[in-house]
This record gives sequence, C-alpha cells and structure tokens, in this order.
Amino acid sequence: MAVLDGLTTKARLLSFGLQIDGLCEFCSKVLESRDHLFFTSCLTKVVWAGVLGLCNQSIVVLDWNEEFLWACRQLKGRSLLSALLRLAWNYYITMIWRERNNRHFEGSRLLWIAWWIGLGRQFGCHLVG
Ligand SMILES: [Zn+2]
Repeated sequence: MAVLDGLTTKARLLSFGLQIDGLCEFCSKVLESRDHLFFTSCLTKVVWAGVLGLCNQSIVVLDWNEEFLWACRQLKGRSLLSALLRLAWNYYITMIWRERNNRHFEGSRLLWIAWWIGLGRQFGCHLVG
C-alpha cells in the first residue's frame, strides 16, 4: 500500500475533496503526505536513521523516492544483511503508519521506548554490531 502511495494520508484525502485540516499528525506544520510522513518529517527521519543504525547502515535520509530506490538496491539478494534490511523496512513502514493512526484515531501515542525495544529484539541488537 505504501509503495503504491495507496495509504489514506491526509494529502490523498484532500485530493478526494474531503474537508480536513491536512496537517501531519507528528508535527502539525506540514501537509501529511506519504513522503513527509515516512521520510521528510524531522521525527521520522531520525527514526529511520536510527533503524538503519541498528542494522549497521549509515545514510543521509532523503525523500520517499530516494529511500525507496536505496531500499530496492539494498533489499535484493539472499544475504543476512538483505534479509535484515527487508525486515527493518517493513517494520519501519508498519510502525510509522500504526503510530500515525494511533495519534489520528485514538489521540494517543505509542510508547517510543517500547517501539525501540521491539525493534532491537526483532532486528539488530544481537545480529549486527
Ligand atoms: Zn510532520
């Protein structure tokens, strides 16, 4: 869904004619688009860099298109690192969307520390580093 830009971000809902505020659930300053939500928001940019850091990867986080191209190159193959990065990518996209929906529909935030602990358990801490 995210790859095809099929998520119901506020930018998409506005394009359908809905009367909503359109502001990002994380910063409340910018139109909530897929690009902003996952990679150009100051919050998610740091989280993605942190996720990659757990995988022993260091890149400058850019926009959705650049990150997707990077992912397509890195996620190919059968190596342990490729498998780890595929898991990290999927976990990241899922958790950011879940966090966004929690904030939007429940008015609550997931606990970021629990997020990181879950991430560390699933991917990085004892596999890389
Ligand atoms: Zn934002």
